[in-house]
Formats: sequence, C-alpha cells, structure tokens
Amino acid sequence: MKTIRYFLLMGALLLSAVSCINARKPIRGVIITGQNNHNWPVSHQALKMTLESSGLFSLDIAVSPKQGADMKDFAVDFSKYKLVVLDYNGDNWSADMNAAFMDFVRGGGGVVVYHAADNAFTDWREYNEMIALGGWGGRNEASGPYFYWKDGALQADNAPGNGGSHGYRHEFVLNCRADSHPITKGLPARWKHASDELYDRMRGPGGIKDLLYTAYSSPEQRGSGREEPLIFTLKHGKGRVFHIMLGHCGESLTDNPAMQCAGFQTLLLRGAEWCATGKVKQAVPKDFPTEDKVSLRPNYHPTR
Ligand code: ZN
Repeated sequence: MKTIRYFLLMGALLLSAVSCINARKPIRGVIITGQNNHNWPVSHQALKMTLESSGLFSLDIAVSPKQGADMKDFAVDFSKYKLVVLDYNGDNWSADMNAAFMDFVRGGGGVVVYHAADNAFTDWREYNEMIALGGWGGRNEASGPYFYWKDGALQADNAPGNGGSHGYRHEFVLNCRADSHPITKGLPARWKHASDELYDRMRGPGGIKDLLYTAYSSPEQRGSGREEPLIFTLKHGKGRVFHIMLGHCGESLTDNPAMQCAGFQTLLLRGAEWCATGKVKQAVPKDFPTEDKVSLRPNYHPTR
C-alpha cells in the first residue's frame, strides 16, 4: 500500500511539474517601430511572428508617430515588459521617452538591437554606448573607432572616415567567436546565412561584452576586406543587450530571405530569451543552416 501511495504521489508531483512548464507564461515584450529606412510594416511583423511562434514571447507593438510629427505623446510603459526589440531608425524621441527607456535598460531590462536600429540616434551618447557600434547617420571618427576581428581578437582602429557601409547582398558564412555562451552553445561554429547585407566599417564607443559571430566582408562583394563583428552582447547597467546586425527586410514577408533564414530566426530567439532571462532553454533546431547550406523558414515558424 505504501508503495502504491508513493508512486501516486510521485506521479502527481511529476504531472504538476509538467503542467508548470506548459503553463509557463510567455515573456512580455514590445517591438518599437514606426520609422525606418527599411520596410518596417513588414519587418516588425516578421519579428513578431518569429518570436511568438516559439511560444516563449508575447509582444506588443509600439508604433511611433510619422517622420516629422510631434513626438511628445509617444510614450511606452516599459514597466510592463522584460524585453524591448528595437526596429526603429527615425526621429529623436522625447527626453522623457529616452529617460524611461534608459531607466528600463539600466534597471535590468533586455534589449534586442535589430539591423538598422544601430543606424539610429547618432547624437544620443548613452544609446551609442548601449549598442557599442553604429553606422550611417553622420557617424565618423567622433563616434568612436572602427572595430574588426583580426589575429584572434577584436581590434580598434581610430582612422578617420564614415561609419557604416555594406556591399552587395549575398549569402555569407557566420563564424562563431564564443561557443560556450548560452546563445551560441550547441550551434555550429560556421553556418551559412541567406542573402543579406553584411554591415561593415561600423564604429562607436565599443564595450562589446561577448562577441558571438563575425563574417568576412569580401572585397569581391564590394565589402571591407575585414572580418566584421555582426552579433554580440553588451551589459548596460543591470540590463542585457543583444545586438544583431543581420536581417535586412525585403519588400514583403514572402520576399525576405534574410529574415526567413533559420539561422537568423534562431539567433533572434535565443538572443531575445537571453536578454529577458539571462538563460537560453531552447534546443538547437533541426533545420539550422550548415556551413554549405542555407535554410529558409518562409512561414517564420521553426521546424518541429
Ligand atoms: Zn538593410
């Protein structure tokens, strides 16, 4: 009788543990968008679909006023969120919004800096410290050094010149530089990304904590000839920041290889979970690209 009772108890405990896992509430986050030199009505949808299809996230969308419009009423209540995804490259926010955002980050919030979000806010010093590297928007030697990977380390180069450029869109291989980080653990050391822009000659204050991936920017593709840092993390106050320069947005959800790439989507998901929680509990998906083969998810949903 005791044994039966013991098994019943163990069974009940196991069931409740399983239902706890299943009932785990999605992480609440917000995607900030509304102005971009990219097709933001498509990019923010692709980001939302990718993140929510995992079941890990529930995302609101904060759409800014149009370019040139008054920003004073554009406010996000960051206290509701653990994660902010930046899909924004446009007019300055109000001083109140800037302060609320930085309070969120310094206080321990998670931030994903996605693609052209690192073109934004050239003159906002703390934003540039939070993203480490930026491009365009008048960035030059006053913004900080160029950074690139050489001889097994990140090099800073104070040469004068514009910050931010890219060559032709093409498929390229990502090289892992930190294989024990929770975001990269278990992923292949080299994997082929779908056709995308490869940002090069980015510059800024630096302060990268963990450089996760670089890629060679080939002069044949009108690139820099350098191994460029493209995916990395930062610490800002108590906040965790995941910066991913990949993911140029195409004309529509269906014509969007960089955002359909299973590698991009996996890194976005793992980076977002790490930002929000400090951990990554996602398994490596079966359709992750190899060094030779691109892998696309046209429906923005991981393969089961
Ligand atoms: Zn782009």
